[in-house]
Order: sequence, then structure tokens, then C-alpha cells
Amino acid sequence: MGTTPVKIHVADLHKAFAGNEVLKGITLDVYAREVLCMIGPSGSGKSTFLRCLNGLEEITSGTVEVDGQRIGDPHVNLNQIRENIGMVFQHFNLFPHLSVLKNITLGPTQLKGVSVAVASDQAKKLLAQVGLEDKATAMPNSLSGGQQQRVAIARALAMDPEIMLFDEPTSALDPEMVGDVLHVMQQLAENGMTMVVVTHEMGFAKNVADQVVFMDDGIIQEAGTPAAVFEHPQNARTREFLDKVL
Ligand code: ADP
Ligand code: MG
Repeated sequence: MGTTPVKIHVADLHKAFAGNEVLKGITLDVYAREVLCMIGPSGSGKSTFLRCLNGLEEITSGTVEVDGQRIGDPHVNLNQIRENIGMVFQHFNLFPHLSVLKNITLGPTQLKGVSVAVASDQAKKLLAQVGLEDKATAMPNSLSGGQQQRVAIARALAMDPEIMLFDEPTSALDPEMVGDVLHVMQQLAENGMTMVVVTHEMGFAKNVADQVVFMDDGIIQEAGTPAAVFEHPQNARTREFLDKVL
């Protein structure tokens, strides 16, 4: 009792692509129900880091553990871990030939053996949760970018994950769409989802994050509470970055 479990443990993570080291020793923990926001310039390794968390990139050295299970350990079932980690990308990648409802029910029915009826009921609840209860029969292309991104979030949630990873989920959206998506994410956070969010939305990071990590040049340059990182940045690179984006 009393201790919050570590959901994601990363220690001295290195990742190189053909000798080009992109992650140069990342160490961090994400606790259950925590929101970690990762900020930093383009090319600093944020997406690569997220992809290492669910085994989409093979790591070069170091440790990544999810719920105590080491990614890359041959005895660990990576598919099972991935089912527990939802991922939302900048480009929503919905299946264009499937209705919104089918996009959401595909994973549970195909990967988890959930019946179509049960999956459809759950999908409708998720659509209500993201404010799109009237869009079940719509085709993705008929929706705005912000609506498509909320469908993508509902699709990820349909697998009932314990962890959600977001890679710049609002960067491709028209400004007027951003708020609705951030609102859905904030509600998820308030409901206790463990989240790692790469974002340029500093307002979201300030208001929702438990930890803010500033990444630059493949290294965590600075990490702390939003108040510490945004109001009292210690590192010159952090200050320079924040000066540009705030
Ligand atoms: P960020 O998300 O912070 O913009 P990325 O993780 O996408 O940064 O990329 C960090 C660096 O890694 C970039 O220099 C990028 O070109 C390189 N990189 C990313 N993915 C690959 C890949 N599959 N092969 C080779 N280089 C890559
Ligand atoms: Mg990226």
C-alpha cells in the first residue's frame, strides 16, 4: 500500500540509426496515472523515444520496461504489451474505407476476440466520450481533422489500454480544432490514464502534466514539474527553446 507503481521505466536508453546516435542515454520513470509531457525541438529524438516504449524501434542499449516487463526480452510477449499501450500520431491514419464505428471495433474484434455487438456498444460509448456520438456511420474523409483525431483516440481506447502515447496529436490540425482534442486528452488524464505526450502545446503541458521533460540533441536537458521547467528553467537550452515557443 501507498506506493504508486512505475508503469514505464527507462534507464540509459540509447538508440542509433546506422551509427547515428539519436537517443544518447535517456533515463526516466512514469508512474501510474501520471502525465509526462515531452517538449523539444524537431529532430531531438522525441518520436524515436516514444517508438522505443512500445517496441516499434529496436533499442541499441539500455532498458525499457513496461509494467516490469522488459521490451526486447525474448520471454516477454511484445504483442501483449502493445495491446496495453495506445498510440496516437500526428497523422491519424484511420482506415479510409471503413466507417468510424468499424475503425474503432476493428482492433477489439480482430485482436481480442470481442464480439461485434459488444465492440460496437463500447465504440459508441467511446464516441460519446470524445464528443462524436453522431458520427458512428460517417466515413473518415467526411470528418474534420480534429474529429478524425478524436476518432483515432477512441480507436486507441477501444483496446482498453493502461498507457496512452501521443506524438504531437494536434500539430497537423487547424488551430480551431486543437482545443477539442486537448480537452479529450485532459479528460483522459483526469480519469487516471497514464500518458506520455509529445507536444508543442505548452498550455496543455503546464496545466495537465505531472512531469515535463525537455529533450534536445538526444538528451534530457531538463525535467521537472511544469512550474519548475516553465517558470524556473535551469538549463540555457531550455530557456532558449521556451523563449521561442512561449
Ligand atoms: P523528433 O520527433 O524530436 O522530431 P525524431 O525522433 O523523429 O525527432 O528524429 C530524431 C533523429 O533521428 C532525426 O535526425 C531523424 O532523422 C532520425 N531518425 C528517425 N527515425 C529514423 C530512421 N528510421 N532511420 C534513420 N534516422 C532516423
Ligand atoms: Mg517527432
